[in-house]
Amino acid sequence: MSAHVLIIEDEERIARFVELELKHEGYEVTKAGDGRTGLSLAESGDFQIVLLDVMLPELNGLEVLRRLRKSSSVPVIMLTARDAVMDKVSGLDSGANDYITKPFAIEELLARIRVALKNNPGTPAKDSDVLTWGDLALNVSSHTVTCRGEEIDLSHREFELLRMLLVNRNIVLSRDTLLEKVCGYDFAGETNLIDVYVRHLRNKIDERFDFHMIHTVRSVGYVIKE
Ligand code: CA
Repeated sequence: MSAHVLIIEDEERIARFVELELKHEGYEVTKAGDGRTGLSLAESGDFQIVLLDVMLPELNGLEVLRRLRKSSSVPVIMLTARDAVMDKVSGLDSGANDYITKPFAIEELLARIRVALKNNPGTPAKDSDVLTWGDLALNVSSHTVTCRGEEIDLSHREFELLRMLLVNRNIVLSRDTLLEKVCGYDFAGETNLIDVYVRHLRNKIDERFDFHMIHTVRSVGYVIKE
């Protein structure tokens, strides 16, 4: 079954071009020309991936993403204007899986779509929806983390980092591996970002609940042990 792609883009010329290319590659495609329509379509859960422009009428792309992430973990690739560094950073912090700068080569977009789909092969099975460690529970579907009845407020990247470590418990993950999974390949080499997010998680979880959950493995990376 081919993936169904939602394009939220108000520039009809770009939307049409991407639609034709994606259909040529065998994808199913639906287009939305404003943020509000795009958000309600994306929330329907009918799509395997969303391409989301930042500058949109009705609701801008970052706001669409912020609202969408309350109920959905569908992969989202942001389409940003050249050099809009703030948009990239805000987009990734709000839960975008990747971004591509306009104007882009269609081959690059296709490659990123393939990567995003490979990293998110559909909805997780029911019994893996909740990952637990002691009193801590991470719910993949609702994108929430709770401990002893208290909800822990995590950014998207902190959540993804914790999820990766929980899924791979007892396996030491290198900073490079974590960086690629959590931040994407555009951040290759910036492994200190992972140290920063680990520090956030320790502040928000280990210190608050007196855990020793995330272990540092010197000169290798991090692991959550059973
Ligand atoms: Ca636009």
